[in-house]
Amino acid sequence: MIIHIPHSSTFIPPRERDSLLLDQADLEHELLRLTDWYTDELFDIPGAYSVCYPVSRIITDPERFEDDSDETAAQYGFGAIYTKTTGGANLRDHADESRHDLLERYYRPHHRKLSEAVTRELKKAGVALIIDAHSYPQDPLPFEPPRYHNNRVDVCIGTDSFHTPRKLSEALLESFRAKGYRASINVPFSGSIVPEQYYNKNPKVKSVMIEINRDLYLLKDSSEKNSHFNQLKEDVSEILRAIV
Ligand SMILES: [Zn+2]
Repeated sequence: MIIHIPHSSTFIPPRERDSLLLDQADLEHELLRLTDWYTDELFDIPGAYSVCYPVSRIITDPERFEDDSDETAAQYGFGAIYTKTTGGANLRDHADESRHDLLERYYRPHHRKLSEAVTRELKKAGVALIIDAHSYPQDPLPFEPPRYHNNRVDVCIGTDSFHTPRKLSEALLESFRAKGYRASINVPFSGSIVPEQYYNKNPKVKSVMIEINRDLYLLKDSSEKNSHFNQLKEDVSEILRAIV
């Protein structure tokens, strides 16, 4: 099992800091809203191989398509290189000029790492399973289309029509529900990451996304864990180990 964690990091490399048009308080506000807080801890599953993005998604977002013309969130300023803040202000000047360097430094190495992990699993086990691990805020972010704004369930399971076995998504749904979580499939979010070299080509590469509502484990308007965090972590771990 490969755990893909794209959005847990809050690290802004010093060399990239100056290109962001934010003072420290605004940057912290963006990090608060955009970071999938502690997903690296929540999805720390014994025996699984973790591919965790080492910098904040504000630097470049590895979950977006590299080319803006393929990426629906790009129209809101949230393609692979964000140009807007969650409040709608400009995030960076000269985004086009820095694009190539940012992709080379962060985005592409991360995708190579994920791809290599999948190739290794295929060689070793004949099949590779990616868990695409996220969390999301109760209040919608500006790049979420209106159809995403309702039904902010506790746990959303995102599927891909080619790479997610129905048995897997339904087993996850039932397992979370059995533990008392409000869970749904592809509501509000759908899809799950697969490396491009295997996408829609190799059915031995399986992938499913798990999005956890941050209200479940964070204090309101804060990045601090609430008292349910440890129980949630235990539940996620137990469900994933049982299913795999
Ligand atoms: Zn995320």
